[in-house]
Amino acid sequence: MTTTDQPARPSRAPMSGRAIVQSQFDRAADLINLEAYMRKILMSPFREVQVEVPVRMDDGRIEVFTGYRIQHNGARGPCKGGIRYHPEADHDEVLGLAAIMTWKTALMDIPFGGAKGGVTVNPKKLSKLELERLTRRFTQRIAIVLGPYRDIPAPDVNTNAQVMAWILDEYSSRQGYTPAVVTGKPVALGGSLGREEATGRGVMYVIQEYARDFGIPLKGSRVVIQGFGNVGSHLARLLDSEAGAKVIAVSAVEGGIYNDKGLDIPGLLAHVAQGKPVTEWTGGKSITNDELWTIPCDWLVPAALGGVITKESNARTIDCKVVVEGANEPTTPTADRILEERGIAVIPDFLANAGGVTVSYYEWAQNLQQYRWTHEQVNRELKATITKAYLSVRDLAKQKAVTFRTAAYGIALQRVADAERLRGN
Ligand code: GLU
Repeated sequence: MTTTDQPARPSRAPMSGRAIVQSQFDRAADLINLEAYMRKILMSPFREVQVEVPVRMDDGRIEVFTGYRIQHNGARGPCKGGIRYHPEADHDEVLGLAAIMTWKTALMDIPFGGAKGGVTVNPKKLSKLELERLTRRFTQRIAIVLGPYRDIPAPDVNTNAQVMAWILDEYSSRQGYTPAVVTGKPVALGGSLGREEATGRGVMYVIQEYARDFGIPLKGSRVVIQGFGNVGSHLARLLDSEAGAKVIAVSAVEGGIYNDKGLDIPGLLAHVAQGKPVTEWTGGKSITNDELWTIPCDWLVPAALGGVITKESNARTIDCKVVVEGANEPTTPTADRILEERGIAVIPDFLANAGGVTVSYYEWAQNLQQYRWTHEQVNRELKATITKAYLSVRDLAKQKAVTFRTAAYGIALQRVADAERLRGN
């Protein structure tokens, strides 16, 4: 059922999601001279809900999982962010990811705050019915803090449109038909055209802008993508078909596939659609997940889990011009500094992968207006929104001589702080 299959983390990231976000936050808060009390407001979560999720398994046993919904900030609008199902999804990870959503929606200038949800579970071990029961029970327990004007979930790691459909059904069974309570739904249930590919498409638009600005012609340039789930697979397809880039390697949980001449992406996608592992694709050489990081390329796109670019593993050896963070928090702060010293640019997660939540905004707006946009309209608006955000980051980075990440944080923090100040206390 998964739309996002990620290579397993070699080991637990040396820093928790929360610690990563905190250290990046401090750098940017200094840049915009943020007052101490505002730092406290912006760093601490607005509301945290932890729930017990008992699920009747197919064999009759009851298993009890732990779930979280953390609303980081709602000053600019209803809280917004995905729900992930993963064995390592814990409180700190969900909190760090919730904070990133606040910065992401602020940077895109869409009227949402930030939230994230997670259930500590390995969904690959569940049957479809168990997964449905888990989703329904989790939704029942967090429903009290959800709502179209309160908090709107969406897909994330290991969740997809079907899971969103169950959330919609469960919520609506008590509150009445409420499509705007969740985004990333199937199109037949009020989902938006273009939502599923939106994160990958947004990554491509940002790459196109960067390529133009920094003189790395995208056509024919070499791309390596770690992760072939929702983000990685759509990105590969779009870079190949719309941008003429050469995707030379991709990886999934079981390993990767490499072809220096460029992979036949439509062929690989058809192979994976039959449920076969990428490593068994005959159009390239099979490689390990570690080997993937050593391949020389122009664009390296981590598009799976967090904490994969680290000082200990690959930050000193990665051989690319630009790291484009398709995943959330793939680079640890120490690795980030190493890449900076090495002159490798990093396009940060909450700019690079913001296409998903941006089209979630369009989906929400369509649901509230009960009016459907065309796919072309969605893509056009997405391009305009993400490009505007990219340009503001590029300009501030240049003006203050800071990295894209610090500039992006500076802009986002300023917007959320302004909204907090205007609301008053
Ligand atoms: N889970 C996605 C993200 O990390 C999408 C969130 C959303 O659409 O609300 O941005």
